[in-house]
Amino acid sequence: MVENSTGARALALREKILSGAARAGRNAADIRLVGVTKTRTIEEMLEVASLIDAIGENRVQEALTKKEQWPSDVKIEWRMIGHLQSNKVRRAVTVFDALDSLDSVGLVRAVERAASEAGHVVPVLIEVNTSGETTRTGAAPGDFPGLIDCVMESPHLNLQGLMTIGPLTDDEAQVRNAFARLREMASDARLRTGLPLPVLSMGMSLDFEWAILEGSTMVRIGTAMFGPR
Ligand SMILES: *Cc1c(COP(=O)(O)O)cnc(C)c1O
Repeated sequence: MVENSTGARALALREKILSGAARAGRNAADIRLVGVTKTRTIEEMLEVASLIDAIGENRVQEALTKKEQWPSDVKIEWRMIGHLQSNKVRRAVTVFDALDSLDSVGLVRAVERAASEAGHVVPVLIEVNTSGETTRTGAAPGDFPGLIDCVMESPHLNLQGLMTIGPLTDDEAQVRNAFARLREMASDARLRTGLPLPVLSMGMSLDFEWAILEGSTMVRIGTAMFGPR
């Protein structure tokens, strides 16, 4: 394997997750690695399929096209991490194993309806905008309690936890603050609802080590594994 190959970068990421977990006094087995594969080819994706825990795609149609070409003997989980449009919900429910970006009551209701029609229970995350940046997707923190109530009233949704995108800055304190906020929201929600909510999806190429220090259980990595898009 050549040193700067995608596979080598994925292995190096695994090492960084290990050392980050050790630094945080955590078990690396509790941190899943989602390979973010928007714009990547099937060949690039297959190079890392055995080194990642799941694939993260941003668009329903792109994921569908790739899944049609994906070899059936390579088992992997497909997660929707991009903003989900209501008119794509029905398809998303059949294409993906989990939907990580539920951020409005309207979307929650649409996904519940589609999951009910498809006859299965969909694992979901609620995405919260913890940074307050208007360019970031996700529900406003103030809308989170209402959103969680709505998900709990939805028998075909299985709420696993929360997701966020960190603020676009290299200021460590500011980024870690946003991640800490998501962790605290999850912990408040556990007390209030009794749900286990084990998943905190936070941390991308530039901030995943800070996210691990703040309790991330799922990092979503694109460029640090595949190179620039
Ligand atoms: C693109 C994307 C990522 C990965 O970003 P990188 O900086 O390439 O690691 C993670 N999460 C979401 C929601 C994304 O859209």
